[in-house]
Formats: sequence, structure tokens, C-alpha cells
Amino acid sequence: MISRAMQDAINEQIRDELYSAYLYLSMAAYFEATSLPGFASWMRMQSQEEVSHAMKLFDFVNERGGRVTLHAIDQPPLEFESPRAVFEATYEHEQKVTGLIHDLYGLALEEKDYPAQVMLHWFIDEQVEEEDGVSAILDVLERVGDAGQGLLMLDRELGQRGAE
Ligand code: MG
Repeated sequence: MISRAMQDAINEQIRDELYSAYLYLSMAAYFEATSLPGFASWMRMQSQEEVSHAMKLFDFVNERGGRVTLHAIDQPPLEFESPRAVFEATYEHEQKVTGLIHDLYGLALEEKDYPAQVMLHWFIDEQVEEEDGVSAILDVLERVGDAGQGLLMLDRELGQRGAE
């Protein structure tokens, strides 16, 4: 059985993952509105991936005999300055999420919750990949700038991202 402290902390992380989904969906809407369909499609998939993160945690709480309670999700930003600003915000956000996952792992160590530690290893790895993927796109954006041929090529490339 999961401890109360662990259950409550995971319930908060469910909200944070769903906020991530909401944030990336808002970014997808921005890219749709600025005629960058490849960027929009990439962000839409990113959003779906965040929902799957929330559901992994949702299932874990239930499997351990806990009770999932859903918190309110904040409204995400609606407007962004440029594609580069979007990816800067994404990178910053993922670093914040990495910190939250590490805090959760710290709690699992304190609570001697071994199943939670094992489950969180997946999230720790996932955050390394998230940060790496987003920073690679940010590097390209810094090189090509926020307009022109390079941006359209990147849009085409991001549009190729398959469902994960
Ligand atoms: Mg996530």
C-alpha cells in the first residue's frame, strides 16, 4: 500500500503532467495560427505524450491501493513571441519538470517506497530524453532564426515525428 505522503505527491505530479499537456496544446494552437503545421503537429504529439505520463502515474496510484484525486489545472500562456520563444519556454518547462521528478524520487527514497523508485526510474530517463530532444530543436532554431527557408525546412522535419 502506498503511503499518504507518496500518494499526495504523485497526485500533484499528475496535475503537473496534465498542465504540461495543456501547455503544449496551447503551443500547438499558436503554431496552427501562425501557419507552421509541422511545429503544430510536433507539439500536439508532445501534448499527448504528457497525457500518457499522467496516466502512468494514475495507474500506479491505483495499483498500489491509493486514491487518485485530480487538482485544478492552470490556464497556459495563450500567446508566444516566436517559434524560438516557444522552444525556450519548453526547455525551461522540462527542466522544471525534471526537478519535480527528482523531488518525487527523493520522497520515494525517504519513504523507502521501492516500487515508486522503480517506477520513477522510467521518468528520470524520460526527462533526460525530453531535455535533449528539446535542446536539439532549440539549437537549430537559434541557427536558422524565426523566419525564412530554414524555419520552413525545420517545420517539414518536425512534421515527420511519428506517434510515440
Ligand atoms: Mg512529462
